Amino acid sequence: MLKPIDDFFQKHNIKVYGHCSLSNSDKEKILLSRDIVNLLNSAIVFGIPLSGSVIMNLEDGPDLLYLHHYRQANYLLDRISFGLATIAEDCGYMAVPIPASQIVDWKNQRAYVSHKHFALLSGLGWFGRNNLIVNSVYRSRLRFATVLTSIRFETEPKILGFHCGSCRKCIEMCPAGAITETPEGFNHIACFEKIKELTRQKNISQYICGMCIKACEKWE
Ligand code: SF4
Ligand code: SF4
Repeated sequence: MLKPIDDFFQKHNIKVYGHCSLSNSDKEKILLSRDIVNLLNSAIVFGIPLSGSVIMNLEDGPDLLYLHHYRQANYLLDRISFGLATIAEDCGYMAVPIPASQIVDWKNQRAYVSHKHFALLSGLGWFGRNNLIVNSVYRSRLRFATVLTSIRFETEPKILGFHCGSCRKCIEMCPAGAITETPEGFNHIACFEKIKELTRQKNISQYICGMCIKACEKWE
């Protein structure tokens, strides 16, 4: 990582971050103008952990404490992305801060980029059965943001393989039955329909759930 970027992350107490280069297929999936995508070379991805205590408090789906915490995490991620992009531009590079949580194609439920995809390519965790990135320290409770940039990094990270092993806790916990043996089998529609139902019942104004994050935690 470049020193000004390392320094920036350390100053903001960001412990989980990395980068990956953009392949042609990655670039095709970025929902930005081709004028800028053609000039981008890398993704810088970073994560902040949701509070384990807030997650532990969840009982049968999302609650108001989690809603507020989730929003604050997104604001924090966006502020850090903003500052990071400014530093990269000050160093003479292009840098696009991608919002932490913003759907831009509602029909296909897509954002400008998949933060999880770039977190995987940056070696920050593996894709778990619950369709979330599982990190060795923070398990499934990292939320991510990405800055796309023209920087070319000299090294490539090691991508982690599937490490869920014999664990099936999220399969047992999921109220939608959406989680299967493999991340590829994850039932997005069943998950989304259950989240819509839970958030309507509990009057939560954002599509969140949290139960498969709770399942993945190792409580002590
Ligand atoms: S978010 Fe909720 S409904 Fe969706 S997979 Fe996780 S536990 Fe199941
Ligand atoms: S709860 Fe277990 S199976 Fe589910 S994602 Fe976490 S480690 Fe994998």
